[in-house]
Amino acid sequence: MRMAGAPIVCPVIYYDKCNGCGLCISVCSCNSLMLIQNVIKFIEASQCGWCTQCEAVCPTGAICCPFEIVFEDN
Ligand code: SF4
Ligand code: SF4
Repeated sequence: MRMAGAPIVCPVIYYDKCNGCGLCISVCSCNSLMLIQNVIKFIEASQCGWCTQCEAVCPTGAICCPFEIVFEDN
């Protein structure tokens, strides 16, 4: 669940690696992904829960959920 006011971010897609297998769609519980002309696209980026399942199942490394590590001063 995204915190209120947090910026909308979505996984990175490497279109040249996507083979259109659709596995990422089958595990996306937020219905954020769709195949358009055999290439994966985000249709509801604001609904992405950043579960990283799409990255986990992609056989070609075409979708990636990078994390930013932020160190806070104490
Ligand atoms: S990170 Fe999760 S919710 Fe977001 S697109 Fe991937 S599978 Fe869907
Ligand atoms: S699992 Fe990977 S290769 Fe398959 S449609 Fe999704 S992004 Fe493309």
